[in-house]
Amino acid sequence: MRTKSKVKMFYSIFLKGMFAMGLSACSSIIPQENLPEYVTVSSHKEYNSILKTPAKDLNFPLSVDDKRDIKILEAKYDVEENCAGLAAPQIGIAKKIIVFAAEDSEELRKWRPDFTQYMPKTIWINPTYEGINQATHDDYEGCFSVKDIAGLVKRHQKIHYHAFTPEGKEVSGEAEGFLARIIQHEVDHVRGVLFVDIAYPDSIKSVEYYRKKRDEALVKK
Ligand SMILES: [Zn+2]
Repeated sequence: MRTKSKVKMFYSIFLKGMFAMGLSACSSIIPQENLPEYVTVSSHKEYNSILKTPAKDLNFPLSVDDKRDIKILEAKYDVEENCAGLAAPQIGIAKKIIVFAAEDSEELRKWRPDFTQYMPKTIWINPTYEGINQATHDDYEGCFSVKDIAGLVKRHQKIHYHAFTPEGKEVSGEAEGFLARIIQHEVDHVRGVLFVDIAYPDSIKSVEYYRKKRDEALVKK
């Protein structure tokens, strides 16, 4: 039972890439070669300023530049096959824009008991969240901005979120489980917080390390 839950745990990390959900890629209006590269750090001790600086709020109605930046972020997200979400600072845009999805997937539900709430691709402007109660959940995360590193991160199990659509419509509600984790991870990016800043320090290790652990767990199974 213990081993099995370990196997599950490692599957939950690596099933479709780190902190990833196996979203299908959509066609993009911007050619892939014209999309910006990720801003990355290669260790949790080395920080790039844009990833560590709270991003700017956008004002409505959005400017032409804001609308262009949203399109670029969305296009970058669309070309990633294993991407649960992206935030504008990850591609060098210091604005509070995130794009994410938690689309229903039978395969993912098998491995993630916390995958209970779904949301189609969503773009939020000036997003915020707060925990609804004291309940938390630990799980592994990775990030396109933190190369080859994974770690165990404590997140609120349930959150209340607030944001605006690109059209300026206010949205708010409650999210739980894996969806809540995705939102917390992405909103943290526009706050200048990376998962490695809040992961249990002892758990911050290479993806390779966790991959080996997973393989060992699978063998024991
Ligand atoms: Zn990230």
